[in-house]
Amino acid sequence: MAKYTITFDRDGCIGAAACVSENEANWRMGTDGKADVLKRDIEEDELAANKAAAEACPVGVIHIMDNETGERLV
Ligand code: SF4
Repeated sequence: MAKYTITFDRDGCIGAAACVSENEANWRMGTDGKADVLKRDIEEDELAANKAAAEACPVGVIHIMDNETGERLV
C-alpha cells in the first residue's frame, strides 16, 4: 500500500485550476472543465506538491490520508 492516498470529490470541483497551478505533475484539467488526478496513491516524495494542490483548492474537494496513521492531512 502507498504511504498516502488522495481522495478527490470530482463532483464538487468548480474548475478553478488552482490544483493544477500548484502541481502540474499530478493534476490536469479535463475537457469538461473539471480537474483530474493522475495518481491517487502517493509516496513521501510526492506529498508536498499534492498537499499544496489540496490546500490551494478553494472548495476543499481534495484530501490526503496518511495510510499508516489513518490521519487526514488535508
Ligand atoms: S483547485 Fe479544486 S476546484 Fe479547482 S480545479 Fe482543482 S479540484 Fe477543482
